Amino acid sequence: MPTASFQTVADGIYCIETGLYRDGLAACYLIRERDRLAFVDTGTELAVPGLLGVVAELGLTPAHVDYVIPTHVHLDHAGGAGALMAACPNATLVVHPKGAPHMIDPAKLTAGATAVYGEDVFARDFGELLPVPESRVIAAQDGQTFDLDGRLLTFIDTPGHANHHGCVFDAGSRGLFTGDTFGISYRAFDTAAGPWLFAPTTPVAFDPEAWQRSLDHMMALEPTAAFLTHYCRIDEPPALVDRLRRSIRDLADIALQYQGEPGAERKDRIEQDVTAHLLADARAHGCTLDDATMRELLAVDLDLNAQGLEVWLRRRERRAG
Ligand SMILES: [Zn+2]
Repeated sequence: MPTASFQTVADGIYCIETGLYRDGLAACYLIRERDRLAFVDTGTELAVPGLLGVVAELGLTPAHVDYVIPTHVHLDHAGGAGALMAACPNATLVVHPKGAPHMIDPAKLTAGATAVYGEDVFARDFGELLPVPESRVIAAQDGQTFDLDGRLLTFIDTPGHANHHGCVFDAGSRGLFTGDTFGISYRAFDTAAGPWLFAPTTPVAFDPEAWQRSLDHMMALEPTAAFLTHYCRIDEPPALVDRLRRSIRDLADIALQYQGEPGAERKDRIEQDVTAHLLADARAHGCTLDDATMRELLAVDLDLNAQGLEVWLRRRERRAG
């Protein structure tokens, strides 16, 4: 059985590499309490055999998995949820109410991703989306708790990056599984100033105001660690949150310069500005990687951020107009 590489990041919390595009880009988490397990995020379907390998490495079986909790239904977080649920006979899928229909019937997610990537690239990078039987899905409400053999996991509604985004709070360790709502922070950009963070403004439901409110909500929990999908653990999130708040504002401001100028090339102009901004921001943070390396590490995000900001502008223009 293949085993994904993984590391212990807190007591009973494992950060697992899901292998999307490159190492260090996308993780998911396994929480263990005695012999019960919960996954937070899953990676793509292609990651699932490696995740089951980790379960075996811990001396347990898929029957020990009680919960699979995708933070939101973007494919790097939830693409493998259906396959993982199929392999774990006792698991319940816990997901945001706005994401639940797409896990039960993934046809729209598949169609959307195929339209963006094309069928071949979609199959190569993401595999296949399997439906989850409705009877095994809980549409989680804000504040709802899930009992992992006495360890309480609380679902927190956190829109902003996506309107179907939730975080999971592990009250015992004060660890917060943040999906994308605490931003992206690749370890390659760490400096003496600490982690570098930026906001993923991915299509199609970026909402900067809702995002700031979600951060209020998350910081009120006084978390001592944030477990990011992109990537791994960062400490003392309240000390870092202003960096992310500023990134959300800066990226929205970049897009607003193009408000009212729709046109085919707008996304490309936004992408140029976002690229210049993020590279300058990383430099100001003390990052010494050369530009080409930074562009390469951020390539997927630069494209998605520009797409998401362009979609956000269009939504604002439709509302105004
Ligand atoms: Zn996402």
